[in-house]
Amino acid sequence: MNLTVFGVGYVGLVQAAVLAEVGHNVMCVDIDADKIDRLSNDIIQIYEPGLQNLVADNRSAGRITFTTDTEKAVAHGQVQIIAVGTPSDEDGSADIRYVLAAAESIALEMDQPKIIVSKSTVPVGTCDKLRSQITDVLNARGRGDLAFEVVSNPEFLKEGSAVADCMKPDRIILGTNSAHAEELMRELYAPFNRNHEKIIVMDVRSAEFTKYAANCMLATKISFMNEMAGLAEKLEANIEEVRKGIGSDPRIGYDFIYPGLGYGGSCFPKDVRALIKAAGNIDFHAPVLNAVEERNNHQKMVLFEKVSQHFNGDLRGRKFALWGLAFKPNTDDMREAPSRTIMESLWRAGASVSAFDPEAMPECQRIYGQRPDLLLCGTKEAALQGAEALLIATEWKSFRAPSFAMIRDILTTPVIFDGRNLYDPAVVARHGIQYYSIGRKIAK
Ligand code: NAD
Repeated sequence: MNLTVFGVGYVGLVQAAVLAEVGHNVMCVDIDADKIDRLSNDIIQIYEPGLQNLVADNRSAGRITFTTDTEKAVAHGQVQIIAVGTPSDEDGSADIRYVLAAAESIALEMDQPKIIVSKSTVPVGTCDKLRSQITDVLNARGRGDLAFEVVSNPEFLKEGSAVADCMKPDRIILGTNSAHAEELMRELYAPFNRNHEKIIVMDVRSAEFTKYAANCMLATKISFMNEMAGLAEKLEANIEEVRKGIGSDPRIGYDFIYPGLGYGGSCFPKDVRALIKAAGNIDFHAPVLNAVEERNNHQKMVLFEKVSQHFNGDLRGRKFALWGLAFKPNTDDMREAPSRTIMESLWRAGASVSAFDPEAMPECQRIYGQRPDLLLCGTKEAALQGAEALLIATEWKSFRAPSFAMIRDILTTPVIFDGRNLYDPAVVARHGIQYYSIGRKIAK
C-alpha cells in the first residue's frame, strides 16, 4: 500500500519505518527541512532502540522516502497518516494547529480520494473539525466531488521501546463509521494482526478519547504510587515492600507502580492537562485528574527538597553530580523530564550541576546551551568529580550496579539522593554513604 506520513518525530518516524518494514511504500513529509535532509542521509535525530537500522535498511530498499514537498507527499499515499505534534497550549489545552495545518495541506493538494488518519493525540471532536475543514477547502477548490474519510487511530507506543511496540502492538484502535475506511485500515495493519485480533473498531470520538483515558489512567497509577511513597516515608514503612505486597494482587498488578520522581515526557503531562482543560470547558468536575497533576508537580520537587533539607537550605556554590537527564531510560527525550526541574531548582539556589546521561546529553546541550553552572560529562564517574552529592533522576541500567567505594571516594561528602530507588539502602550504608531514596527510611 502507498502511505504518506506527516511528521517524522518519535511517532511518525517509528510508525513509518515499521510500516515500510512489512512492505508498505511510505513517504514521510515534515516541515523541518533539516530533519528531512538528515534522514535522507540516514542520520536519525532521535534515539530509539533499533530505529537507526530499520530506517536505513528500508531506505536502501526504497520502501521509505523523505520529503518536504507536500504536493508530492499527498499525491503518493492512498492513506495519509497525520503524526505531528500536539503540544500543550498556554492554557493547558492541546494545541492542534499542526494537525489542522497538515490536514489543510492534504485538502489543498489531493486530487484522488484519500483516507486521512489522525494518529496524533487529539481532543475529542478534532476529527470532526478536520472533516469540516477538509470539506471547506475542497469546496473552495471546486473539488467537492473528491471522497475522503477521517479515521482516528491513536498511537500507544512507548518511547524507549517504540519500534518493538509498533511491531507488536497490544491493540490497534480504529475510530471510524465507514466500512470502506475500516477495510483499508485493516489491510494496512494486517501484518500486525496475525496471531490474534488486535483491532478494535469504535466510533471516532470514543477512539480519540481512548488515548486520553489510557494515558490518564497510567498517570493516575504513577501519582497514586508516589503519594503512597510519601506516606510510607512519614509512617516509616518501606514502599518497595508495599509495592511487592500490592502488586501480587492481580487486580493491581506489578506494572507501573514504581515510586519515583513523577511522570514526564511528551505525553502524560500534556495529556492530563488537556483532559483537565477539556473537562473544565464543559463544566465537568474532575477532582481525580486535578489531583493526579498536583501530586506530579509536587513529586518533581521531592528530590530537590531532600537535597535542600540535607544541606540546611544552603546550596549556594555547591556542586552536585546528576546521573540521568532523559525522562526515562532508553530515550533521549527530555520533554518535561524531572531532571529539568531538579537542575533548574539547583541553579536557582545557586548550585551547579555536573551531569551524565547515556543518550540525552546532546538534547540537554540543545535545551540549555553553554552555562557556567552546567557541566556535561563524558562518563558517570567524571560527573562525580568535585561534587558534594550524587543525585539520580533516571533509572538507566548502567546506573544499577556502580562501585559504591568509588562513589564514596570521589564525592566530597558521601551522600546519594536516589529518585529511582535503584539501590539497597543497607548496601549503600555499608559503604559509608548516606542514602536518601523515595518512600524508604533514610539510611545513615
Ligand atoms: P514530535 O514533536 O517528536 O514530532 C512532530 C513532528 O511533526 C516534528 O518533526 C514536526 O516538525 C512535524 N510537523 C509539525 N507540523 C507539521 C506539518 N504541518 N507537516 C508535516 N510535519 C509537521 O512529536 P511526537 O512525539 O512524535 O508526537 C506526535 C503525536 O503523537 C502527538 O500528538 C503525541 O501526543 C502523540 N504520541 C506521542 C507518543 C510519544 O511517545 N512521543 C506516543 C503516543 C502518541
